[in-house]
Amino acid sequence: MSRIKSFWQQRSLKFWLASGLVMTIAPVCLLAVLGYLRFHSEIVQPLVAVTEEQSQVLQPLNQIEINLWDVSRAVVDYAATGQRGYADSYVEHRDLIDQAFVRLEQAVARQPLLEQDVRQALADWRAVTEDAEQVLGLPPRMMDTSRRQPVLAFEDDIDRLGHDLGKLFEDVRLANEASHRRALAAITQFDQLALAALLLSVVFGVLGLWIINRSLIDSMNRLSDGAMKFADGDPDHRIEVRIPYELAGVADTFNTMRSKILLQQRELETAAITDSLTGLHNRRHFDRMLAQECLRAERFGQPLALVLCDIDHFKKFNDTYGHQNGDRVLKAVSEALHDAIRQVDVVCRYGGEEFVVILPNCDREQAGEAAERLRQTMAALSVQLADGQTVAISGSFGVAIQSDQDSDPETLIRRADDALYDSKRHGRDRVTLAAATEVT
Ligand code: GH3
Ligand code: MG
Ligand code: MG
Repeated sequence: MSRIKSFWQQRSLKFWLASGLVMTIAPVCLLAVLGYLRFHSEIVQPLVAVTEEQSQVLQPLNQIEINLWDVSRAVVDYAATGQRGYADSYVEHRDLIDQAFVRLEQAVARQPLLEQDVRQALADWRAVTEDAEQVLGLPPRMMDTSRRQPVLAFEDDIDRLGHDLGKLFEDVRLANEASHRRALAAITQFDQLALAALLLSVVFGVLGLWIINRSLIDSMNRLSDGAMKFADGDPDHRIEVRIPYELAGVADTFNTMRSKILLQQRELETAAITDSLTGLHNRRHFDRMLAQECLRAERFGQPLALVLCDIDHFKKFNDTYGHQNGDRVLKAVSEALHDAIRQVDVVCRYGGEEFVVILPNCDREQAGEAAERLRQTMAALSVQLADGQTVAISGSFGVAIQSDQDSDPETLIRRADDALYDSKRHGRDRVTLAAATEVT
Protein backbone atom coordinates (compact mmCIF):
# COMPACT_ATOMS: atom_id res chain seq x y z
CA MET A 1 0.00 0.00 0.00
CA SER A 2 2.76 2.42 0.98
CA ARG A 3 4.69 1.46 -2.20
CA ILE A 4 1.70 2.40 -4.29
CA LYS A 5 1.41 5.64 -2.35
CA SER A 6 5.08 6.47 -2.80
CA PHE A 7 4.81 5.61 -6.52
CA TRP A 8 2.12 8.26 -6.95
CA GLN A 9 4.00 10.71 -4.79
CA GLN A 10 7.03 10.41 -7.08
CA ARG A 11 5.08 11.43 -10.17
CA SER A 12 6.11 14.79 -11.60
CA LEU A 13 4.05 17.89 -12.21
CA LYS A 14 4.32 17.21 -15.95
CA PHE A 15 2.91 13.72 -15.34
CA TRP A 16 -0.09 15.03 -13.43
CA LEU A 17 -0.78 17.76 -15.95
CA ALA A 18 -0.46 15.33 -18.85
CA SER A 19 -2.71 12.75 -17.14
CA GLY A 20 -5.28 15.41 -16.43
CA LEU A 21 -5.27 16.57 -20.03
CA VAL A 22 -5.23 13.01 -21.42
CA MET A 23 -8.14 12.14 -19.15
CA THR A 24 -10.01 15.12 -20.53
CA ILE A 25 -9.17 14.71 -24.19
CA ALA A 26 -8.58 10.96 -24.68
CA PRO A 27 -12.21 9.80 -24.42
CA VAL A 28 -13.31 12.46 -26.89
CA CYS A 29 -10.60 11.43 -29.37
CA LEU A 30 -11.26 7.72 -28.85
CA LEU A 31 -14.98 8.11 -29.27
CA ALA A 32 -14.48 10.31 -32.31
CA VAL A 33 -12.36 7.61 -33.97
CA LEU A 34 -14.74 4.79 -32.98
CA GLY A 35 -17.70 6.88 -34.05
CA TYR A 36 -16.10 7.61 -37.40
CA LEU A 37 -15.29 3.91 -38.00
CA ARG A 38 -18.79 2.85 -37.05
CA PHE A 39 -20.36 5.66 -39.05
CA HIS A 40 -18.31 4.61 -42.05
CA SER A 41 -19.04 0.88 -41.83
CA GLU A 42 -22.68 1.11 -40.79
CA ILE A 43 -23.95 4.14 -42.63
CA VAL A 44 -21.64 5.33 -45.37
CA GLN A 45 -20.73 1.91 -46.75
CA PRO A 46 -24.32 0.55 -46.90
CA LEU A 47 -25.47 3.74 -48.57
CA VAL A 48 -22.65 3.55 -51.10
CA ALA A 49 -23.49 -0.15 -51.64
CA VAL A 50 -27.13 0.68 -52.21
CA THR A 51 -26.24 3.30 -54.77
CA GLU A 52 -23.79 0.98 -56.52
CA GLU A 53 -26.28 -1.85 -56.53
CA GLN A 54 -28.88 0.39 -57.99
CA SER A 55 -26.68 1.45 -60.84
CA GLN A 56 -25.10 -2.00 -61.42
CA VAL A 57 -28.33 -3.98 -61.28
CA LEU A 58 -30.93 -1.50 -62.42
CA GLN A 59 -28.99 -0.26 -65.43
CA PRO A 60 -28.70 -3.64 -67.22
CA LEU A 61 -32.19 -4.49 -66.04
CA ASN A 62 -33.56 -1.38 -67.69
CA GLN A 63 -31.56 -2.14 -70.79
CA ILE A 64 -33.05 -5.65 -70.91
CA GLU A 65 -36.57 -4.28 -70.52
CA ILE A 66 -36.17 -1.70 -73.26
CA ASN A 67 -34.54 -4.10 -75.69
CA LEU A 68 -37.00 -6.85 -74.84
CA TRP A 69 -39.74 -4.66 -76.20
CA ASP A 70 -37.75 -4.20 -79.43
CA VAL A 71 -37.05 -7.95 -79.62
CA SER A 72 -40.71 -8.70 -79.16
CA ARG A 73 -41.76 -6.21 -81.78
CA ALA A 74 -39.13 -7.45 -84.26
CA VAL A 75 -40.24 -11.09 -83.90
CA VAL A 76 -43.98 -10.34 -84.00
CA ASP A 77 -43.57 -7.94 -86.94
CA TYR A 78 -41.41 -10.47 -88.77
CA ALA A 79 -44.07 -13.11 -88.27
CA ALA A 80 -46.68 -10.66 -89.59
CA THR A 81 -44.72 -9.22 -92.54
CA GLY A 82 -41.87 -11.63 -93.26
CA GLN A 83 -39.49 -8.68 -93.80
CA ARG A 84 -35.80 -9.55 -93.19
CA GLY A 85 -35.14 -6.16 -91.61
CA TYR A 86 -37.03 -7.28 -88.49
CA ALA A 87 -34.76 -10.31 -88.20
CA ASP A 88 -31.74 -8.01 -88.24
CA SER A 89 -33.34 -5.73 -85.66
CA TYR A 90 -33.96 -8.81 -83.48
CA VAL A 91 -30.31 -9.87 -83.63
CA GLU A 92 -29.17 -6.39 -82.74
CA HIS A 93 -31.43 -6.13 -79.67
CA ARG A 94 -30.83 -9.75 -78.65
CA ASP A 95 -27.10 -9.08 -78.49
CA LEU A 96 -27.71 -6.02 -76.37
CA ILE A 97 -29.86 -8.10 -74.00
CA ASP A 98 -27.17 -10.82 -73.87
CA GLN A 99 -24.57 -8.21 -72.92
CA ALA A 100 -26.93 -6.75 -70.32
CA PHE A 101 -27.40 -10.23 -68.80
CA VAL A 102 -23.64 -10.67 -68.54
CA ARG A 103 -23.41 -7.40 -66.61
CA LEU A 104 -26.41 -8.35 -64.52
CA GLU A 105 -24.86 -11.69 -63.57
CA GLN A 106 -21.71 -9.94 -62.45
CA ALA A 107 -23.67 -7.33 -60.48
CA VAL A 108 -25.60 -9.93 -58.45
CA ALA A 109 -22.67 -12.33 -57.99
CA ARG A 110 -22.66 -11.86 -54.20
CA GLN A 111 -26.40 -11.63 -53.64
CA PRO A 112 -27.83 -15.18 -53.63
CA LEU A 113 -31.47 -14.13 -53.84
CA LEU A 114 -30.96 -11.85 -56.81
CA GLU A 115 -28.60 -14.37 -58.38
CA GLN A 116 -31.37 -16.95 -58.38
CA ASP A 117 -33.77 -14.41 -59.93
CA VAL A 118 -31.25 -13.60 -62.66
CA ARG A 119 -30.64 -17.31 -63.33
CA GLN A 120 -34.37 -17.82 -63.74
CA ALA A 121 -34.68 -14.78 -65.99
CA LEU A 122 -31.71 -15.97 -68.06
CA ALA A 123 -33.29 -19.41 -68.49
CA ASP A 124 -36.49 -17.76 -69.63
CA TRP A 125 -34.50 -15.45 -71.92
CA ARG A 126 -32.92 -18.55 -73.51
CA ALA A 127 -36.41 -19.92 -74.07
CA VAL A 128 -37.44 -16.57 -75.60
CA THR A 129 -34.49 -16.58 -77.99
CA GLU A 130 -35.15 -20.20 -78.98
CA ASP A 131 -38.79 -19.36 -79.72
CA ALA A 132 -37.78 -16.19 -81.55
CA GLU A 133 -35.24 -17.98 -83.67
CA GLN A 134 -37.80 -20.63 -84.49
CA VAL A 135 -40.17 -17.90 -85.71
CA LEU A 136 -37.40 -16.12 -87.61
CA GLY A 137 -36.33 -19.47 -89.14
CA LEU A 138 -39.66 -19.76 -90.95
CA PRO A 139 -39.80 -18.61 -94.65
CA PRO A 140 -40.80 -14.97 -95.08
CA ARG A 141 -44.44 -14.87 -95.95
CA MET A 142 -47.64 -13.61 -94.49
CA MET A 143 -48.95 -14.93 -91.19
CA ASP A 144 -50.76 -18.21 -91.29
CA THR A 145 -51.86 -20.77 -88.77
CA SER A 146 -48.63 -22.85 -89.10
CA ARG A 147 -46.53 -20.03 -87.64
CA ARG A 148 -49.07 -18.89 -85.14
CA GLN A 149 -48.05 -21.58 -82.67
CA PRO A 150 -44.33 -20.56 -82.34
CA VAL A 151 -45.33 -16.91 -82.03
CA LEU A 152 -47.75 -17.72 -79.22
CA ALA A 153 -45.02 -19.76 -77.48
CA PHE A 154 -42.64 -16.82 -77.97
CA GLU A 155 -45.15 -14.39 -76.47
CA ASP A 156 -45.72 -16.74 -73.50
CA ASP A 157 -42.00 -16.85 -72.84
CA ILE A 158 -41.75 -13.08 -73.21
CA ASP A 159 -44.52 -12.79 -70.59
CA ARG A 160 -42.68 -15.18 -68.28
CA LEU A 161 -39.48 -13.25 -68.77
CA GLY A 162 -41.35 -10.01 -68.09
CA HIS A 163 -42.62 -11.59 -64.89
CA ASP A 164 -39.08 -12.68 -63.96
CA LEU A 165 -37.76 -9.20 -64.53
CA GLY A 166 -40.60 -7.77 -62.45
CA LYS A 167 -39.64 -10.10 -59.60
CA LEU A 168 -36.03 -9.10 -60.02
CA PHE A 169 -37.01 -5.43 -59.78
CA GLU A 170 -39.04 -6.17 -56.68
CA ASP A 171 -36.20 -8.12 -55.01
CA VAL A 172 -33.74 -5.32 -55.81
CA ARG A 173 -36.17 -2.88 -54.25
CA LEU A 174 -36.52 -5.10 -51.15
CA ALA A 175 -32.74 -5.46 -50.86
CA ASN A 176 -32.40 -1.69 -51.11
CA GLU A 177 -35.03 -1.19 -48.48
CA ALA A 178 -33.24 -3.62 -46.16
CA SER A 179 -29.99 -1.66 -46.64
CA HIS A 180 -31.85 1.54 -46.02
CA ARG A 181 -33.37 0.17 -42.82
CA ARG A 182 -29.93 -1.00 -41.67
CA ALA A 183 -28.54 2.45 -42.35
CA LEU A 184 -31.39 4.06 -40.37
CA ALA A 185 -30.81 1.67 -37.44
CA ALA A 186 -27.11 2.50 -37.57
CA ILE A 187 -27.91 6.22 -37.54
CA THR A 188 -30.08 5.70 -34.44
CA GLN A 189 -27.30 3.67 -32.82
CA PHE A 190 -24.83 6.32 -33.84
CA ASP A 191 -26.99 8.95 -32.16
CA GLN A 192 -27.04 6.91 -28.93
CA LEU A 193 -23.30 6.35 -29.21
CA ALA A 194 -22.72 10.07 -29.68
CA LEU A 195 -24.82 10.81 -26.58
CA ALA A 196 -22.96 8.17 -24.55
CA ALA A 197 -19.69 9.61 -25.88
CA LEU A 198 -20.74 13.06 -24.80
CA LEU A 199 -21.66 11.88 -21.30
CA LEU A 200 -18.47 9.86 -21.03
CA SER A 201 -16.44 12.84 -22.20
CA VAL A 202 -18.08 15.00 -19.55
CA VAL A 203 -17.32 12.39 -16.85
CA PHE A 204 -13.71 12.02 -17.98
CA GLY A 205 -13.42 15.76 -18.43
CA VAL A 206 -14.47 16.25 -14.83
CA LEU A 207 -12.04 13.50 -13.78
CA GLY A 208 -9.25 15.19 -15.72
CA LEU A 209 -10.00 18.53 -14.15
CA TRP A 210 -10.12 16.83 -10.74
CA ILE A 211 -6.62 15.43 -11.33
CA ILE A 212 -5.29 18.85 -12.37
CA ASN A 213 -7.06 20.45 -9.44
CA ARG A 214 -5.83 17.84 -6.94
CA SER A 215 -2.25 17.74 -8.21
CA LEU A 216 -1.71 21.40 -8.94
CA ILE A 217 -4.32 23.90 -7.85
CA ASP A 218 -5.02 22.27 -4.46
CA SER A 219 -1.30 21.93 -3.74
CA MET A 220 -0.66 25.52 -4.86
CA ASN A 221 -3.49 26.68 -2.59
CA ARG A 222 -1.98 24.81 0.35
CA LEU A 223 1.37 26.45 -0.36
CA SER A 224 0.00 29.99 -0.58
CA ASP A 225 -2.32 29.33 2.37
CA GLY A 226 0.59 28.11 4.48
CA ALA A 227 2.74 31.08 3.47
CA MET A 228 -0.10 33.48 4.34
CA LYS A 229 -0.66 31.83 7.74
CA PHE A 230 3.04 32.05 8.50
CA ALA A 231 3.08 35.71 7.41
CA ASP A 232 0.03 36.32 9.63
CA GLY A 233 1.99 35.05 12.61
CA ASP A 234 0.93 31.41 12.89
CA PRO A 235 4.38 29.82 13.27
CA ASP A 236 3.08 26.31 14.01
CA HIS A 237 1.39 25.85 10.64
CA ARG A 238 3.11 23.17 8.55
CA ILE A 239 2.39 22.91 4.84
CA GLU A 240 1.31 19.39 3.86
CA VAL A 241 1.78 18.79 0.12
CA ARG A 242 2.45 15.25 -1.17
CA ILE A 243 1.90 15.58 -4.93
CA PRO A 244 3.42 16.55 -7.28
CA TYR A 245 6.88 16.00 -5.86
CA GLU A 246 8.09 19.39 -7.16
CA LEU A 247 5.54 21.23 -5.02
CA ALA A 248 6.10 18.73 -2.16
CA GLY A 249 9.77 19.80 -2.39
CA VAL A 250 8.76 23.46 -2.22
CA ALA A 251 6.56 22.69 0.82
CA ASP A 252 9.42 20.80 2.53
CA THR A 253 11.81 23.66 1.83
CA PHE A 254 9.25 26.09 3.21
CA ASN A 255 8.76 23.96 6.34
CA THR A 256 12.53 23.70 6.88
CA MET A 257 12.87 27.45 6.36
CA ARG A 258 10.01 28.01 8.80
CA SER A 259 11.75 25.84 11.46
CA LYS A 260 15.01 27.73 10.95
CA ILE A 261 13.27 31.09 11.18
CA LEU A 262 11.49 29.95 14.36
CA LEU A 263 14.79 28.78 15.84
CA GLN A 264 16.51 32.04 14.92
CA GLN A 265 13.55 33.97 16.27
CA ARG A 266 13.80 32.10 19.57
CA GLU A 267 17.57 32.72 19.67
CA LEU A 268 16.98 36.41 18.98
CA GLU A 269 14.30 36.57 21.64
CA THR A 270 16.65 34.93 24.14
CA ALA A 271 19.49 37.26 23.11
CA ALA A 272 17.21 40.25 23.49
CA ILE A 273 16.55 39.44 27.15
CA THR A 274 20.00 38.10 28.08
CA ASP A 275 22.99 40.03 29.30
CA SER A 276 25.91 39.00 27.12
CA LEU A 277 28.61 39.34 29.79
CA THR A 278 27.00 37.47 32.67
CA GLY A 279 24.40 35.32 30.94
CA LEU A 280 21.76 36.60 33.37
CA HIS A 281 18.48 38.12 32.21
CA ASN A 282 18.84 41.79 31.37
CA ARG A 283 16.99 44.93 32.35
CA ARG A 284 14.41 44.52 29.57
CA HIS A 285 13.42 41.07 30.90
CA PHE A 286 13.41 42.37 34.45
CA ASP A 287 10.99 45.19 33.59
CA ARG A 288 8.60 42.73 31.93
CA MET A 289 8.86 40.13 34.71
CA LEU A 290 8.41 42.66 37.48
CA ALA A 291 5.26 44.07 35.84
CA GLN A 292 3.88 40.52 35.51
CA GLU A 293 4.79 39.52 39.06
CA CYS A 294 3.30 42.72 40.53
CA LEU A 295 -0.01 41.98 38.79
CA ARG A 296 0.04 38.34 39.82
CA ALA A 297 0.86 39.14 43.45
CA GLU A 298 -1.89 41.72 43.57
CA ARG A 299 -4.41 39.38 41.99
CA PHE A 300 -3.68 36.39 44.23
CA GLY A 301 -3.04 38.51 47.35
CA GLN A 302 0.49 37.15 47.70
CA PRO A 303 3.48 39.10 48.98
CA LEU A 304 6.18 40.10 46.49
CA ALA A 305 9.70 41.16 47.36
CA LEU A 306 12.40 42.93 45.39
CA VAL A 307 16.09 42.85 46.27
CA LEU A 308 18.55 45.33 44.72
CA CYS A 309 22.27 44.63 45.04
CA ASP A 310 25.24 46.86 44.23
CA ILE A 311 28.87 45.77 44.39
CA ASP A 312 30.78 47.94 46.82
CA HIS A 313 33.60 50.19 45.62
CA PHE A 314 33.58 48.60 42.22
CA LYS A 315 35.04 51.65 40.54
CA LYS A 316 38.03 51.37 42.82
CA PHE A 317 38.26 47.63 42.03
CA ASN A 318 38.38 48.40 38.33
CA ASP A 319 40.95 51.07 38.91
CA THR A 320 43.07 48.70 40.97
CA TYR A 321 42.77 45.42 39.09
CA GLY A 322 41.63 46.53 35.65
CA HIS A 323 38.37 46.29 33.75
CA GLN A 324 38.95 42.69 32.68
CA ASN A 325 39.21 41.54 36.25
CA GLY A 326 36.18 43.68 36.99
CA ASP A 327 34.30 41.59 34.38
CA ARG A 328 35.46 38.41 36.10
CA VAL A 329 33.94 39.70 39.32
CA LEU A 330 30.65 40.50 37.58
CA LYS A 331 30.50 36.95 36.16
CA ALA A 332 31.39 35.34 39.49
CA VAL A 333 28.80 37.41 41.35
CA SER A 334 26.15 36.56 38.73
CA GLU A 335 26.82 32.84 39.06
CA ALA A 336 26.79 33.01 42.85
CA LEU A 337 23.52 34.96 42.96
CA HIS A 338 21.92 32.62 40.43
CA ASP A 339 22.91 29.57 42.49
CA ALA A 340 21.71 31.08 45.74
CA ILE A 341 18.10 31.81 44.80
CA ARG A 342 14.97 29.63 44.51
CA GLN A 343 13.80 28.37 41.17
CA VAL A 344 10.81 30.70 41.22
CA ASP A 345 12.99 33.74 41.87
CA VAL A 346 14.33 35.79 38.98
CA VAL A 347 17.77 37.35 39.09
CA CYS A 348 18.74 39.99 36.51
CA ARG A 349 21.62 42.31 35.84
CA TYR A 350 20.05 45.67 36.53
CA GLY A 351 22.93 47.59 34.95
CA GLY A 352 26.65 48.17 35.57
CA GLU A 353 27.56 46.43 38.81
CA GLU A 354 23.98 46.30 40.03
CA PHE A 355 21.77 43.20 40.24
CA VAL A 356 18.14 42.73 41.09
CA VAL A 357 16.20 39.69 42.34
CA ILE A 358 12.42 39.29 42.16
CA LEU A 359 11.11 37.06 44.96
CA PRO A 360 7.50 36.04 44.29
CA ASN A 361 5.32 34.90 47.21
CA CYS A 362 7.91 36.09 49.70
CA ASP A 363 7.00 38.16 52.76
CA ARG A 364 9.08 40.81 54.48
CA GLU A 365 10.80 38.44 56.89
CA GLN A 366 11.61 35.80 54.24
CA ALA A 367 12.85 38.50 51.89
CA GLY A 368 15.17 39.89 54.59
CA GLU A 369 16.53 36.40 55.16
CA ALA A 370 17.00 35.76 51.47
CA ALA A 371 18.81 39.10 50.97
CA GLU A 372 21.03 38.37 53.94
CA ARG A 373 21.84 34.95 52.47
CA LEU A 374 22.80 36.62 49.19
CA ARG A 375 24.93 39.18 50.99
CA GLN A 376 26.79 36.40 52.83
CA THR A 377 27.24 34.48 49.59
CA MET A 378 28.85 37.56 48.02
CA ALA A 379 30.98 38.24 51.04
CA ALA A 380 32.19 34.64 51.04
CA LEU A 381 33.02 34.80 47.35
CA SER A 382 36.67 34.74 46.51
CA VAL A 383 37.19 35.72 42.89
CA GLN A 384 40.23 34.48 41.07
CA LEU A 385 41.83 37.21 38.96
CA ALA A 386 43.70 36.85 35.69
CA ASP A 387 47.07 36.70 37.41
CA GLY A 388 45.90 33.90 39.73
CA GLN A 389 45.44 35.94 42.87
CA THR A 390 42.07 35.81 44.61
CA VAL A 391 40.19 38.76 45.97
CA ALA A 392 37.15 39.18 48.17
CA ILE A 393 34.31 41.54 47.43
CA SER A 394 31.13 42.70 49.10
CA GLY A 395 27.76 44.08 48.13
CA SER A 396 25.11 46.30 49.59
CA PHE A 397 21.45 45.27 49.45
CA GLY A 398 18.11 47.05 49.54
CA VAL A 399 14.86 45.13 50.03
CA ALA A 400 11.31 46.32 49.37
CA ILE A 401 7.99 44.51 49.75
CA GLN A 402 5.01 45.26 47.55
CA SER A 403 2.41 47.01 49.68
CA ASP A 404 -1.28 47.71 49.16
CA GLN A 405 -0.54 51.42 48.90
CA ASP A 406 2.34 51.16 46.44
CA SER A 407 1.71 48.21 44.21
CA ASP A 408 3.21 49.54 40.97
CA PRO A 409 6.69 48.35 39.82
CA GLU A 410 8.28 51.82 39.73
CA THR A 411 7.44 52.48 43.39
CA LEU A 412 8.76 49.07 44.38
CA ILE A 413 12.05 49.73 42.59
CA ARG A 414 12.36 53.21 44.05
CA ARG A 415 11.80 51.89 47.58
CA ALA A 416 14.34 49.10 47.10
CA ASP A 417 16.80 51.63 45.67
CA ASP A 418 16.28 53.92 48.66
CA ALA A 419 16.93 50.99 50.95
CA LEU A 420 20.09 50.14 49.00
CA TYR A 421 21.22 53.75 49.29
CA ASP A 422 20.69 53.45 53.05
CA SER A 423 22.90 50.35 53.11
CA LYS A 424 25.62 52.32 51.28
CA ARG A 425 25.22 55.21 53.67
CA HIS A 426 25.43 52.96 56.69
CA GLY A 427 28.74 51.42 55.69
CA ARG A 428 28.01 49.01 52.82
CA ASP A 429 28.11 45.15 52.92
CA ARG A 430 24.68 45.11 54.52
CA VAL A 431 20.98 44.58 53.89
CA THR A 432 18.41 47.30 54.42
CA LEU A 433 14.70 46.64 54.30
CA ALA A 434 12.61 49.48 52.98
CA ALA A 435 11.24 51.67 55.74
CA ALA A 436 14.72 51.41 57.22
CA THR A 437 14.23 48.06 58.92
CA GLU A 438 17.76 46.86 59.06
CA VAL A 439 18.47 43.17 59.46
CA THR A 440 22.21 43.14 59.74
P1 GH3 B 1 29.66 52.17 45.56
O1 GH3 B 1 30.27 51.28 46.59
O2 GH3 B 1 29.18 53.45 46.13
O3 GH3 B 1 28.69 51.45 44.72
O4 GH3 B 1 30.91 52.57 44.64
P2 GH3 B 1 31.14 52.08 43.21
O5 GH3 B 1 32.53 52.42 42.83
O6 GH3 B 1 30.85 50.63 43.12
O7 GH3 B 1 30.09 52.81 42.38
P3 GH3 B 1 30.19 53.70 41.12
O8 GH3 B 1 28.79 53.95 40.63
O9 GH3 B 1 31.00 54.93 41.43
O10 GH3 B 1 31.00 52.89 40.09
C1 GH3 B 1 30.48 51.82 39.41
C2 GH3 B 1 31.51 51.23 38.53
O11 GH3 B 1 31.17 50.04 37.92
C3 GH3 B 1 31.95 52.15 37.46
C4 GH3 B 1 32.11 51.32 36.25
O12 GH3 B 1 33.33 51.39 35.61
C5 GH3 B 1 31.93 49.92 36.75
N1 GH3 B 1 31.29 49.12 35.80
C6 GH3 B 1 30.02 49.25 35.32
N2 GH3 B 1 29.78 48.30 34.42
C7 GH3 B 1 30.91 47.55 34.29
C8 GH3 B 1 31.26 46.40 33.49
O13 GH3 B 1 30.50 45.89 32.71
N3 GH3 B 1 32.50 45.91 33.64
C9 GH3 B 1 33.40 46.44 34.51
N4 GH3 B 1 34.58 45.91 34.63
N5 GH3 B 1 33.08 47.51 35.26
C10 GH3 B 1 31.86 48.08 35.16
MG1 MG C 1 26.28 51.35 41.30
MG1 MG D 1 28.81 49.99 43.41
